Amino acid sequence: MREIRLHNTLTGRVEPLNPVHPGEVRIYTCGPTVYASAHIGNFRTFVFQDILRRFLRLQGYRVMQVMNVTDVDDRIIHSAAAAGIGIREFTEKYIKAFLEDIDALHIEMPEELVRATDHIDDMVALIEKLQQKGLTYTSDGSIYYRISKFPDYGKLSKIDLTGIQAGARVDVDQYDKENARDFALWKAPKPGEHFWETRIGPGRPGWHIECSAMSMKYLGETLDIHTGGVDLAFPHHENEIAQSEAATGKPFVRMWLHAEHLIIEGQKMSKSLGNFYTLRDLFSKGHKPSTIRFLLLSVPYRRQLNFTEDGLTQARNSVERLRNFVARLKTEQFQAGSNLEVQKRIEQAESEFDAGLANDINTAIALASVFDMVRDVNTSMDRKAFLQQDAPRAIAAMERFDAILSLLADDDDEKLAKLGFSTRKARMPAAEIEALIAERQAAKKSRDFKRADEIRQKLADSGILLEDSKDGTVRWKYK
Ligand code: AMP
Ligand code: ZN
Repeated sequence: MREIRLHNTLTGRVEPLNPVHPGEVRIYTCGPTVYASAHIGNFRTFVFQDILRRFLRLQGYRVMQVMNVTDVDDRIIHSAAAAGIGIREFTEKYIKAFLEDIDALHIEMPEELVRATDHIDDMVALIEKLQQKGLTYTSDGSIYYRISKFPDYGKLSKIDLTGIQAGARVDVDQYDKENARDFALWKAPKPGEHFWETRIGPGRPGWHIECSAMSMKYLGETLDIHTGGVDLAFPHHENEIAQSEAATGKPFVRMWLHAEHLIIEGQKMSKSLGNFYTLRDLFSKGHKPSTIRFLLLSVPYRRQLNFTEDGLTQARNSVERLRNFVARLKTEQFQAGSNLEVQKRIEQAESEFDAGLANDINTAIALASVFDMVRDVNTSMDRKAFLQQDAPRAIAAMERFDAILSLLADDDDEKLAKLGFSTRKARMPAAEIEALIAERQAAKKSRDFKRADEIRQKLADSGILLEDSKDGTVRWKYK
């Protein structure tokens, strides 16, 4: 197996991946908080995680990925109460939308997608363990984690704890570094709030305990990889470490991977700032799922991704370029034989692609290797140096790249239609198009140019573009 190197926030270094169980990588990803639709900033992080898992699999690893759905937190409780419905009912529509969105973006389903509210017992058991170890205290029915009892507190986010007041605590799930405080593991119910009756009293879990409880339940006490956006390193992941390591006495996570933010006009895209687009906002403006996937994966995850209209246009063109290239490989007639130079060029691209991804999932290098190969192979086709047996080799390489990129399947309309965005008529099936092209060729041969033009027009009216190549063959594509 090729060595895979990843940037570990814990050590601040790029290190070789060394899974606990050889041949298998166990990954936990903090999933969406389902109080609103996810925005494309969130999907930047989810697409990165998708590329990571696809690459690990391509390299021969088994992948066990668990993603949580945070379906209880401060915002959910307040919004559900305001709407006068239960939290399960409130979150249901956002979970459904999330599943539809990840399907549209070709994000693979994790092996386990788990909901916090299905794991209250696991969280209670973990809190009890922390109580037995003397790491907690109770105040007004809420249970807090005493961070001064965990000497490693701050090791992930490198916060300076001097000057932090012992016993000062926070109740909100999210807070900034200046507010490092004892945090709530379990919150006493306030009037009208949703709560569970449990062994540790009535209440509801804090946000952080859910990820410690669910990750260790499914993946064991030491995970290989834990990922999320950079905003999660503090306090969320710091608190997960404090809870998990204090409970088990073992290292919780070997590698922490944090995706940089997607930004818009210099600011983090976020629900609270109100400067966000959901996927559906972009679909309704006519952007395709594959365009957005390309844009999100094109910038390596440790660089901020600046979201612009220009970027969308370029992404759209790039996807077209890849699809047209494969169409050309599949339809053009080449002379018999194979060209060793071409084959070597393809191999070089494959090896650069893998090397790029193995170097901390550098998608920019991986994409450059693909597009450079596309350019060179197109040139060799133009020069007639590309031969018949080179075609299956090039197609196989493109399919291998696509095991990671997942951009070639021309299913944008289908995905959009599923979400109710399709405005165009049903497409003419490929077989019918091929038959019409054959008829047009025959008409041209018998010099019936009128009929040939009629057919071209009919295809054009159905949104199909024809391209007559020099060798007499015809390529087509949907407009
Ligand atoms: P949330 O639903 O807010 O819990 O976020 C889900 C995931 O998206 C987390 O991993 C966040 O860190 C990540 N995230 C939130 N905003 C952004 C952004 N603007 N760019 C990239 N990732 C983000
Ligand atoms: Zn989490």
